[in-house]
Amino acid sequence: MYFYGTTGVNKSGHLEIGGVDSVELAKNFGTPLYVYDVALIRERARGFKHAFDEQNIRAQVAYASKAFSTIAMVQLAEEEGLSLDVVSGGELYTAAAAGFPVERIHFHGNNKSREELEMALDYQIGCIVIDNFHEIELLKSICKEQTKKVNILLRVTPGIEAHTHDYILTGQEDSKFGFGLQNGQAEEALAQTLPFKYFNVLGLHCHIGSQIFETTGFLLAAKKIVEKMAEWKETISFEADVLNLGGGFGIRYTNEDEPIPPSQYVSEIIKEVKQLIDHYSLKMPEIWIEPGRSLVGDAGITLYKIGSSKDVPEVRKYLAVDGGMSDNIRPALYQAKYEAVLANRPLAQTTETVSIAGKCCESGDMLIWDLPLPETEEDDLLAVFCTGAYGYSMANNYNRLPRPAVVFVEDGKEVLVVKRESYEDLIKLDLPLK
Ligand SMILES: *Cc1c(COP(=O)(O)O)cnc(C)c1O
Repeated sequence: MYFYGTTGVNKSGHLEIGGVDSVELAKNFGTPLYVYDVALIRERARGFKHAFDEQNIRAQVAYASKAFSTIAMVQLAEEEGLSLDVVSGGELYTAAAAGFPVERIHFHGNNKSREELEMALDYQIGCIVIDNFHEIELLKSICKEQTKKVNILLRVTPGIEAHTHDYILTGQEDSKFGFGLQNGQAEEALAQTLPFKYFNVLGLHCHIGSQIFETTGFLLAAKKIVEKMAEWKETISFEADVLNLGGGFGIRYTNEDEPIPPSQYVSEIIKEVKQLIDHYSLKMPEIWIEPGRSLVGDAGITLYKIGSSKDVPEVRKYLAVDGGMSDNIRPALYQAKYEAVLANRPLAQTTETVSIAGKCCESGDMLIWDLPLPETEEDDLLAVFCTGAYGYSMANNYNRLPRPAVVFVEDGKEVLVVKRESYEDLIKLDLPLK
């Protein structure tokens, strides 16, 4: 059993998060329930910013909102002075509805539609990260039509194979994202965008993957890009004002994961970039990073109620909870692993090994294999740790399960920030046959 952030055990022997009793939270808001430790999110945000301040580097720390995009979360990012990445009209709309400062919004995506790009220009957001040649043409035509100028970054793929799961690996040359840095596409993209009078080319972007534990990949990517920057300074007198090195900093989900503290990735990256920039006598660009998971991942805990169980003699015992792949699809999608305890008695001696099943009609709907737990009783509460990133944001209504509520806790207080979906919500968009 481990505690982190503001989690601990209170006088009643219950799991406590942000000074709030998790058993009370489950009673008041129902289960499944996503609970966020707000203090931990703030600590992570400040850690990243501090890493830049410490070395006197101009920077933007942009929260990759796809990890968990809701109005309250966007407002929390604003409070902490972060910038914001969006990857769709929906995330952009959420940011705008939350009142996020538009000049600090960056728009990503490999297939932004005309409507989405127009929306971005309407809102006058800070920058659009152009991903491909189609988008260059599309955005040019919109800017011309509307005679509007826009800041852009070019997303490049540096040709790095980060050590992570295949689906969350994006820096290699054979990727659906970005302009190849090695094969001349990046030069071509620059040639097409630099002379265009409605584009202000701020610089370059890369994002090499997610849940990366080693700094090697980031350092290599930085090296390849800065080398190109040096080349472009010579050949076309282009010097980038902004170097965006993406997100993907790994976090600890289970004991098997051994990440370095999130802000340490940044310290090491900055050191490398500084050296390279000095070496090539370039001007130091503003450095942007885009943490998603590492800002909100371990701050989220999901509470479930334990229901049925099934013994397969000599094989395993299944324990089912009242959620599953509908609120956390990562185990099914990425074989993601989690740790959990009983929220109502986290310190109880573990006496058996069980596997936690969801309630969806899929054999693959398993949340945790082989979890040590005490003997459980009906209505015990299971707290699954580190579910703050890509949990709620990937939640779905499979089997018509309503999506859970989200609660923020901090300093002994709880705030409901997303209501639980109702059955009426589920059929709200349905129309009758006649
Ligand atoms: C997903 C994504 C991120 C954030 O990744 P995390 O693993 O959540 O840190 C950052 N930048 C881009 C472009 C992304 O697509």
